[in-house]
Amino acid sequence: MNDTTLVLLGAGNSTRFGLKTKKQWLYIGNDPLWYFVTKQFKKYDFKEIIIVSSLEDINYMKKFDTFVFVEGGASRQESLKNALQNVSTKYVLVSDIARCCIDHDMVQRIIENKEKAHCIVPALSISDTLYIDNSPADRENSKLIQTPQLSEAQLLLKAIQTDKIFTDDSSAMHINGNKILFVEGSQNAHKLTFADDIKKLTCLNPPSSKTFVGFGIDTHPFEENKPMYLCGEIIEKNFGFKAHSDGDVAIHAIIDALLGAAGLGDIGEFFPDTDERYKGIDSKELLKICVDKINSYGFIINNIDITILAEIPKISPHKEKMRRTLSQILGINQRSINIKATTSEKLGFIGRCEGISVHAVATLCYFNWME
Ligand code: MG
Repeated sequence: MNDTTLVLLGAGNSTRFGLKTKKQWLYIGNDPLWYFVTKQFKKYDFKEIIIVSSLEDINYMKKFDTFVFVEGGASRQESLKNALQNVSTKYVLVSDIARCCIDHDMVQRIIENKEKAHCIVPALSISDTLYIDNSPADRENSKLIQTPQLSEAQLLLKAIQTDKIFTDDSSAMHINGNKILFVEGSQNAHKLTFADDIKKLTCLNPPSSKTFVGFGIDTHPFEENKPMYLCGEIIEKNFGFKAHSDGDVAIHAIIDALLGAAGLGDIGEFFPDTDERYKGIDSKELLKICVDKINSYGFIINNIDITILAEIPKISPHKEKMRRTLSQILGINQRSINIKATTSEKLGFIGRCEGISVHAVATLCYFNWME
């Protein structure tokens, strides 16, 4: 379909959704929702697929597949404007990622009729009694409007270049004097807005039970006259670790293991040591941000296992407190956190008591929204 571009809007931050995971990132089998939806549209062979999302999400989405990604705006209309500026075809089909169960017969009806008006809109007739302003209204001449909607791209861009807010494309097109054609909508085209909606959407399969493993390693030299932090605990010593942050080498290794398991890159990409915001920062704060991110992208943490390679300090007196602190930040049971310590038998920089290294392994699985 060389004359049509698909625009999928998914820049919302899921504020109404009510789960730690953003709705775009709920896993359906092995695919996050946004990708599950996009794949269903792939069979129509659009000239181009444009996905609109936040910059942070786009960086992660790019790891999944090659589409055109456009940064969203403050509202649906702003997001659509940004997308339309990248459309080169005559027609554009606009849908929302939250409209995730796609009725292909309906999409077919929309596409087949594209030349018959400036905007093709799926609509449902109303079978219940309708009241408007507390008075019974004529339901025969009323309709419920759905998406996706297909429009002539340049006319739609012109129609939404205004401060007036429209709740869908067809209202903007209508006000601008464009011809609207209604086609039969679908009773199954529900939108995912609240967490409770998920179970109504029968097209959604549960997430796969795959496990993801990530590994992290970090090393820091000692530095005199600094507090020492390890696994979020303060260790009574007259030296700490040389670092841009508080130097908690164990937490840094854990962060890398978590980011690794989620396929999210590494600690330096999220918290660069050239960034003044992170100077002297409590690494527990960095870990919290990382855990929130992992949860928002549809994962939960199964377990963490770390090995601290150190001649000094002695780790065993601190292990229990360390596990408690980590369990609070990670939001998992203490038994799922294992801390091991070993020396390097006086070999190398660790043996010479110049610093320590920490290795960490983390496993994640998908958040099961069915439970
Ligand atoms: Mg570090």
